[in-house]
Amino acid sequence: MQVHAAVLSAPRTPVAIEPVTVDPPQPGEVLVRYLASGVCRSDLHVVDGDWARPMPVVLGHEGTGVVLSTGSDVDSVRAGDRVVLSWMYPCGSCALCRSGRSWLCERSSAGEHVLADGTTRVRRPDGTALYQYLAIGTMAEAAVVPAAACVPISAEVPPEVAALIGCGVATGFGAVVNTAQVPAGVPVCVVGCGGVGLSAVMSAALVGADPIVAVDATEPALHLARAVGASHTVLADVDWTERMRRITGGVEYGFDCIGSAEVVTGLGRTLAPGGTLVLVGMTAQGETVAVDGYRFPDRGYRLLGSSYGSCVAALDFPKIAQLYLAGRLPLDRLVTRPIELTGVNTALQQMRDRAAGRAVIIM
Ligand SMILES: [Zn+2]
Ligand SMILES: [Zn+2]
Repeated sequence: MQVHAAVLSAPRTPVAIEPVTVDPPQPGEVLVRYLASGVCRSDLHVVDGDWARPMPVVLGHEGTGVVLSTGSDVDSVRAGDRVVLSWMYPCGSCALCRSGRSWLCERSSAGEHVLADGTTRVRRPDGTALYQYLAIGTMAEAAVVPAAACVPISAEVPPEVAALIGCGVATGFGAVVNTAQVPAGVPVCVVGCGGVGLSAVMSAALVGADPIVAVDATEPALHLARAVGASHTVLADVDWTERMRRITGGVEYGFDCIGSAEVVTGLGRTLAPGGTLVLVGMTAQGETVAVDGYRFPDRGYRLLGSSYGSCVAALDFPKIAQLYLAGRLPLDRLVTRPIELTGVNTALQQMRDRAAGRAVIIM
């Protein structure tokens, strides 16, 4: 079928909306008509050249859609199902998958941005094959994806909300609920109030953390943080760590949702004895972050890396959708800018300019 897709041909160039051909699904694959795709910071990292990825590539990894057809050997979904896409489809058979840690699967081809057979089903009119970002390339009107990347969820969840479950929400929710397992009644600090950080804030509220202090460099982001459950907000300036200590008396769980060496060092200074520092945001490749090598062991601090919120997509995505429908996670507050596919370059620039909330492409 002929569709439009957002294609990046080289780092630090504009994304082009191109007509492309999507070929039929092969065994184990699914043709999905996308309904919505978030514009996530990980897309921006690729566009800005922070992370090296193969190109030309159809961008987008935070999406939802409707199954149009399936290849043979697919029984997990069928035509008409509403699905959220997982950007790390699990192989299902490696030691990590079998041990219940499918978010770390190393046999998935998602990291190569191709389907399981090493190719994709999307090409330009001249025949040039295109990569699909994390095997799903959601900034498109349709795509063929691995069946294991498709997680069925309730069609009652609006597409612009469902899309965000696939990356930003799962990452922030899971960092709090799965990776850190934050208990009720403890002080939590979340630095960086984009889609991931705001999801962490509302999840901290869900589990009963208190106080919940959100930190960001802009006031509109802090306003959103208060709207989704932050009890206190702190504008990131020179003495934010000192104010953090005054509000909390020491942070039990500190989340870096940016991926910043400066934030990690700062958060390390705010921890209560036995406190936990959780790295959620990712830095540019090759960058290192520093912690205090005396205080960390002396005060019994813990350092955790959280990938995809330690989510098993097939279990956690429907759980998150259910919590949204029950009114327990105000995910719709994250959607501040509904846009069309042609608006993607503008949305990327707004992200560089630190616009609050999430731009979501409605197909
Ligand atoms: Zn993302
Ligand atoms: Zn695996």
